[in-house]
Amino acid sequence: MNKPVDVKKISPKDFETDQEVRWCPGCGDYAILKGVQMALANTGATPENTVFVSGIGCSSRFPYYVSTYGFHTIHGRAPGFATGIKLTNPELDVWLVTGDGDGLSIGGNHMLHVLRRNVNIQIMLFNNEIYGLTKGQYSPTSRPGLKTPSTPMGSVDAPLSPCIFALGSGARFVARGIDTSLKELPVILARAKEHQGASFVEIYQNCIVYNDNVFGHFTEKKTAKDTQLHVKHGEKMIFGKEISKGLRFNAEKFALEVVTLGEAGITEDDILTHDETNRHMAFMLCELEAPAFPAVCGVIYCNPTESYDQSVHYQVAQAKQQKKADFNALLRRGRTWTID
Ligand code: SF4
Repeated sequence: MNKPVDVKKISPKDFETDQEVRWCPGCGDYAILKGVQMALANTGATPENTVFVSGIGCSSRFPYYVSTYGFHTIHGRAPGFATGIKLTNPELDVWLVTGDGDGLSIGGNHMLHVLRRNVNIQIMLFNNEIYGLTKGQYSPTSRPGLKTPSTPMGSVDAPLSPCIFALGSGARFVARGIDTSLKELPVILARAKEHQGASFVEIYQNCIVYNDNVFGHFTEKKTAKDTQLHVKHGEKMIFGKEISKGLRFNAEKFALEVVTLGEAGITEDDILTHDETNRHMAFMLCELEAPAFPAVCGVIYCNPTESYDQSVHYQVAQAKQQKKADFNALLRRGRTWTID
């Protein structure tokens, strides 16, 4: 009988590399890196079965800093690489790392298609509302009025919401986390990994150099309980230091509103229960903007269906069962011409 194999317990350290990390000191990317390494260890991932794929930008340096396979590809095109990697290596866990510039500007088209196709990969979009690597130009998620080298008088663009973009593209898993929330972020990422299909996770990430504290109104630790709502499937959407605020559906306005328990006869029965399979609710939650509303984090939408890679492999298996393919005949069938 063979000796039992000594299976080493995987820890976050197993995903650390010896590479010099080149993000600016204090950048939110460091905390995200830690959260990802924790999530990988917690879910029993192994370096040899994991691959990180990125485009271009500060976030896209990520593959150098995790001890797994990695591809630092071209601007906005990581979804194409990730799709090919997953299709040809279905046993690999494929993670895509991108930013608001890379994933929603030059790569917006590619992001849309990887989501609507539902390729079984995990997508992390670090949203810092700025182009960091190229020194602080405004991005598709920058707020109106933001002054940058490319908008010296203030941006006049309407910003894009990454989660609404993902939902509108047909994503079946949409979640949101915060760089420094290291209690919640690894849990969200573990759910993303577990999901069979394209998982989209927006992570609010602080760019300390070019857009510092842009999320400060809800990430400040002292007030976070009053300014953040971490949704959980099947649980009431209640938040606040005193656990006294909640989200209610206002049927007249067809919108969500913040109410206080105990005021005007409001009880827990009036507060909505989170149903992560409800797409309409997901849109409404993603539309809420701080400070009028809490920043909604956690798994906002999860409603799995067959993934693209499953369908492709099924189709290939079916084709192989049919009569032997004749490539020459295929090329010559239908309308062909002979040139004299
Ligand atoms: Fe991080 Fe901003 Fe520096 Fe880029 S420029 S590494 S996003 S702090």
